[in-house]
Amino acid sequence: MKKAGIIGGMSWESTLSYYKIMNQEVKRKMGKLHSSDLLIYSFDFQTIEELQHKDDWLKLREKMIEVAKDLERARAEFIIIATNTMHKLAPDISKEVNIPLLHIADATAEAIKEKGFKKVALLGTKFTMEGKFYRDKLEKEHSIEVLVPSLNDREYIHQVIYSELCVGKINDNSRKKFVEIINKLKDSGAEAVVLGCTEIPLLITAKDSPLPILDTTTIHAKAAVKFALTEA
Ligand code: GLU
Repeated sequence: MKKAGIIGGMSWESTLSYYKIMNQEVKRKMGKLHSSDLLIYSFDFQTIEELQHKDDWLKLREKMIEVAKDLERARAEFIIIATNTMHKLAPDISKEVNIPLLHIADATAEAIKEKGFKKVALLGTKFTMEGKFYRDKLEKEHSIEVLVPSLNDREYIHQVIYSELCVGKINDNSRKKFVEIINKLKDSGAEAVVLGCTEIPLLITAKDSPLPILDTTTIHAKAAVKFALTEA
């Protein structure tokens, strides 16, 4: 089994999900007392959130590269970034290490294509919904059409992620509002919804959603295990 290096803590609420899912998946596939061989670096998320909202991606780039190199030195054999948003820096990180980086949007695109969806809704932080780094991967590299919520709805989702989900608050009213937003995207033609923020699955599960869900946390964590268990 290859050793995974997880860049986490963004937020720790979802890094916990990665840790659990990866261990459960290794146990499911290998049985006995097997568990995931992994390293986690967990950031102080306050520092990261402040730099994101100051738009200081240069400093964030420096921090992420430093941690990826530390994980490589500690003998991680591949890297996963346990958040969608920070994949904005994935190409910069990949260039600086000699081990593979398993991109969350590639894993998600594979899951979308496996299920045969052509047009999906994307929920996530404003960085993810509005930036090119995530949508271009889905649209240009994987030919999947992406719909995003209206500006007001994007702002609402962004605020719930940072002020509720990343601090462990799960609120019924926010869930209702998310379901309303998903319904609007369904009316606009989305066939499924990408929960493109690793904390959204803490709020929305398949039973809440009017559209089939693509839970990026589970998809990415399972893809990491599959990669870890693949020969060579
Ligand atoms: N974990 C979230 C994501 O998947 C948001 C937190 C962050 O800014 O990294 O995008």
